[in-house]
Amino acid sequence: MADIVSIGELLIDFTPYGMSEFDQPLYERNPGGAPANVLAALAKLGSSTEFIGKVGDDAFGRELAEILNGGGIGISGLARTEKARTTLAFVHLDHQGDRSFSFYRNPGADQLLEPYEVPLDMIARSKVFHFGSVSMSAEPSRSATLSAVRYAKEQGIVVSYDPNLRPALWNSADEAREWILEGMKYSDIVKVSKEELEFLTGTEDLDQGSRMLAERYGVSLLLVTLGGQGSYCRCGSVTAAVSGFPVKVVDTTGAGDGFMAGAIYTVLSKGLALSSCKQEEIEELLRFANAVGALATTRKGGIPAMPSLEEVLALKSSRNEPL
Ligand code: ADP
Repeated sequence: MADIVSIGELLIDFTPYGMSEFDQPLYERNPGGAPANVLAALAKLGSSTEFIGKVGDDAFGRELAEILNGGGIGISGLARTEKARTTLAFVHLDHQGDRSFSFYRNPGADQLLEPYEVPLDMIARSKVFHFGSVSMSAEPSRSATLSAVRYAKEQGIVVSYDPNLRPALWNSADEAREWILEGMKYSDIVKVSKEELEFLTGTEDLDQGSRMLAERYGVSLLLVTLGGQGSYCRCGSVTAAVSGFPVKVVDTTGAGDGFMAGAIYTVLSKGLALSSCKQEEIEELLRFANAVGALATTRKGGIPAMPSLEEVLALKSSRNEPL
């Protein structure tokens, strides 16, 4: 039984790792997939977690299962298939350390998760159920994800959602928007980047865009990440913005997932009432989540980059003013 259960893609990220002696780019094999990264960060902070997804019956799939297990994440909901290989994604970093992706997924095992493979009892016993949009970009994992989310909502479990827009995985921008917004209908906590806010609402104005999503979709806690600048939050009519922690950035891969984990961790550990947040509570939540996100940028990759609770508390107690 775990406090936080998530569903979604589990894959191998090949992350740039300098140049070979023959001047060819090298790639490091990192475990990846946003929902698994979020659980890895939560497990590192000390929470109990379980993952639901699918990998190929191949060496990469076995390695991913071992990595999750070794990170303290339950894998009884991880299915395997011989019908497709474990999904691969190559990460491209620009000079700022910002990422773009090439997916090797035609199909990848993560897309083949079937609704009947979702362990509903595991969801029913959790406190927070987390998902993203990558697993909604193709069938049957779209139906598996949405049926799990609807079930969690019916059971009164707090539903957390990070759409994580990856345009390369959708047939069109309209299709991506339609399904991302479908997921939002069931979500209590939502995290978007400023770019995603604009993509979904047509405005990059934080107040206006966050109000639109919160009111239209009934989102209780709407979080907007602003990269190194920090983050913004709306809970009903209460809003807050907290600036980021200055750190030496190596790779931003795990930042958003670390931030998401920090927010979920705070909601659970502080017993935050999402229907009536106070200003100080959401500022505290943003400070904690910013600290997890910032620390995740100081190391390469997603799962291996997640910080311990001690590291987060140490950074959090350093100076960090509201925006
Ligand atoms: P995503 O776009 O995946 O949501 P971001 O890149 O905005 O994620 O990062 C999430 C959070 O991580 C930010 O809100 C911030 O708190 C922290 N973070 C990201 N980049 C930096 C950075 N360069 N310096 C400090 N903190 C950062």
